Amino acid sequence: MRAWILLALIAAVVVGGVLAWPHLEGTPPEIEAPAEVLVGSEGGTLSLVLSDAGAGLRSFELRIRHGGGGKTVVEQQFAGDHLGATGLNTQREEIEIPIQADGLGIPDGAATLVLSVRDWSWRDAGRGNRSELSIPLQVDTVAPRIAVESGLTYVYRGGSGAAAYRVDEASGSDGVMVGETFFRGYPMPGSAPSEGRRFALFAIPVDAPASPPVRVVATDAAGNTSRARFPARISERNFSNDPIRLSSRFLEDVIPDLAVSVGVDPGDRVAAFQQINSEVRARNEKQIREIVAASSDQRLWSGAFEQLRNSKVTSRFAEHRTYVVNGKEVSQATHFGFDLASNAFAPITASGTGVVLFAGDLGIYGNCVLIDHGLGLVTLYGHLSQLEVTAGEQVQKKQELGRSGATGLAGGDHLHFAILVGDTYVDPLEWWDPRWVKSHVEVRLAPSAP
Ligand SMILES: [Zn+2]
Repeated sequence: MRAWILLALIAAVVVGGVLAWPHLEGTPPEIEAPAEVLVGSEGGTLSLVLSDAGAGLRSFELRIRHGGGGKTVVEQQFAGDHLGATGLNTQREEIEIPIQADGLGIPDGAATLVLSVRDWSWRDAGRGNRSELSIPLQVDTVAPRIAVESGLTYVYRGGSGAAAYRVDEASGSDGVMVGETFFRGYPMPGSAPSEGRRFALFAIPVDAPASPPVRVVATDAAGNTSRARFPARISERNFSNDPIRLSSRFLEDVIPDLAVSVGVDPGDRVAAFQQINSEVRARNEKQIREIVAASSDQRLWSGAFEQLRNSKVTSRFAEHRTYVVNGKEVSQATHFGFDLASNAFAPITASGTGVVLFAGDLGIYGNCVLIDHGLGLVTLYGHLSQLEVTAGEQVQKKQELGRSGATGLAGGDHLHFAILVGDTYVDPLEWWDPRWVKSHVEVRLAPSAP
């Protein structure tokens, strides 16, 4: 009988010990937090991961300390089993705490967030192990100040413009907004970063709404945004509408091979053309936007761009094309470049100095070269039969890039030439005109631009 009681006692001690064991641990909770928190006029967020693998999380408290005082931002308790086995208590918690500077009465400047976390251990007289972390907090509710330095700018629909402006603090991002389209700003070439001088090329997209507002925008690291009116006068312009009859030779000779190479079923030639002209075109355009995003923040070109020598213009910028088979409309597209015809297998040369961003197969554009001229300006050369350059290579104006051809969606040997400003195709005619480049772009790139 006694032995039985003794066994029961031993069992009780063992069970009690097993249950109590996690509460005797001496490891304080772990805190994952950002090295610094930045709060703007829109507020900010503190993202935390709290964990305690032993007794589990009991509570946390977040206090704020600043020159004018301090207060508790948030306090939270976690339920505990008090005498339970490991694993029942909260071991890990992801917490997002909104920090509103005005709501908390924190003035602009430096402050400190003090985070204190306890676990369900019985240490520290039963209050639990404690971790504390101080996180520097920067409050900046003042938006950057923008000073537009450019005078009145005349710009055509489909055309380009340049803006010079100053931003009074190092900004997270700045540039020109035309309607809903953003054009990135870059440090003004030749200026010291401390001067805050910025330069942006922009364009009026062919499909922008009528008279889109043009604004210089700047957002600082804390997310405060400023907008300033940019003095632009936009001239509307009509683009031609051209029906293009697809010949049976084109449908039989060009479409099947191209369809196979871009993953389209070539069985029904017209259906294959429709899919290439819509889905594959959209996919290729998306790829081009990904490539041009790597444009350099240095100006790599100077002066006007050069139209392919001895070439005849066979199609202009922003022609709207309606494709017709046997009198029936089958597809539409806008032609965002110039078609330039020369001799077959003609040398294709760089229209300006820059760096090759891409050289390879680009679907409807066939063998294609993209050259970065810096500051968001990129030229495109499509349908080449042969490539002489590779990505990353520096090229001089007039340097050979390859030979003309009819690769991709092309009915015959020609060069498809296009210019992008940011994500937007623009009319190359302006960039081929030395007077336009000088009066619209280079005057605003001068070291002390007006
Ligand atoms: Zn073309």
